[in-house]
Amino acid sequence: MEQITVKASQSSYKVSVGAGIRHRLADFLPKTYQNVFIVSDTRIAPHYLDDYIASLLPNAKVTKKIIEPGEAAKSKEMYFDILDSMFEAQLDRKSLVLALGGGVIGDLAGFVASTYMRGIDFIQLPTTILAHDSSVGGKVAINHETGKNLIGSFYPPVAVVYDVDTITTLPEKEVRSGYAELIKEAYIGDGAFLDQLFAREKLDKGNQDQLIKDLSSGIKVKTKIVEADEKENDMRKFLNLGHTLGHAIEAEAGYGTFTHGEAVAIGMLFALELSEKRFGANLLLDEFQSWLERNQYPLYLPDLSAARLVTRMQMDKKSENKEVHMVLLREIGQPVTEKVDHDTLFDAVTSFLE
Ligand code: ADP
Ligand code: ZN
Repeated sequence: MEQITVKASQSSYKVSVGAGIRHRLADFLPKTYQNVFIVSDTRIAPHYLDDYIASLLPNAKVTKKIIEPGEAAKSKEMYFDILDSMFEAQLDRKSLVLALGGGVIGDLAGFVASTYMRGIDFIQLPTTILAHDSSVGGKVAINHETGKNLIGSFYPPVAVVYDVDTITTLPEKEVRSGYAELIKEAYIGDGAFLDQLFAREKLDKGNQDQLIKDLSSGIKVKTKIVEADEKENDMRKFLNLGHTLGHAIEAEAGYGTFTHGEAVAIGMLFALELSEKRFGANLLLDEFQSWLERNQYPLYLPDLSAARLVTRMQMDKKSENKEVHMVLLREIGQPVTEKVDHDTLFDAVTSFLE
């Protein structure tokens, strides 16, 4: 097992990554809770909910809320629906919310916990690889018609208990999605981690030692950044590496065509190519490309128009007067934010699509 402590301004919490630790959840609780509310989805709950419940105190009152999977759950309606269920379950300020699932469940349950009676304790129990990212840093939110994650708060969990056993049932597409963000973290902050990832023949969700190592390495990079951000206020944006084009691809191809991480992987290839051109660094692009191919990442973009992608990139919140602010790498481990003007961007995207 690996444990990483994340220091937030008001509190600090431990992220524990291990195999089979769902059977001893009580060991990771900061105190005992009499009234516990669990949020999960219908794909995850049948596999792991009972194990987690069995590992709580025998006399604790437990209420379950099992919802349909998918981003649509991060809605105002679902938010109020869960609040209603929490009042019905008579949770008080000493109660606990458990979020068992991926990013959707963590964001939703965390946001509910942050506002129920001005905030009650919550614990993340991630079941996806991508959740290594969303479960650290304390951002919780639901969506508004205007955009994703626009209703939310900074609300750190009291603990994160990451049982890698749960990854065995995660679909391959979701494994690829999560690993793309791990590669991102490696590029941003840890060259040795990057070498470790590229040295592997194939991703193997059944290899628990590897998962523990990879997830905790990614979490360490993310932790460093969110801790530094409290002082510097602009480190977090480096986590957007690959996301400027990645978000544009997700939207242009239609949500669901690519998983988030698959789109980010393509976006990273683009950002790294641009970085090599601009700074002349060697960013191991061949190794990255070969790793993506070995692991069946979709790298072919179905008829996307460069002009439309660039327009999307300009709509991104980091864009000012047609210039796009992109995260690039001076070297591995040295992210920078650079302005890219329209013509340069258009030419780069056009040649990237060829
Ligand atoms: P993330 O944002 O972390 O990728 P999501 O909450 O969007 O997570 O989950 C992605 C999909 O994978 C959802 O359909 C979810 O139900 C499913 N899922 C999550 N964890 C598991 C798991 N351990 N086993 C099987 N399916 C899972
Ligand atoms: Zn992302």
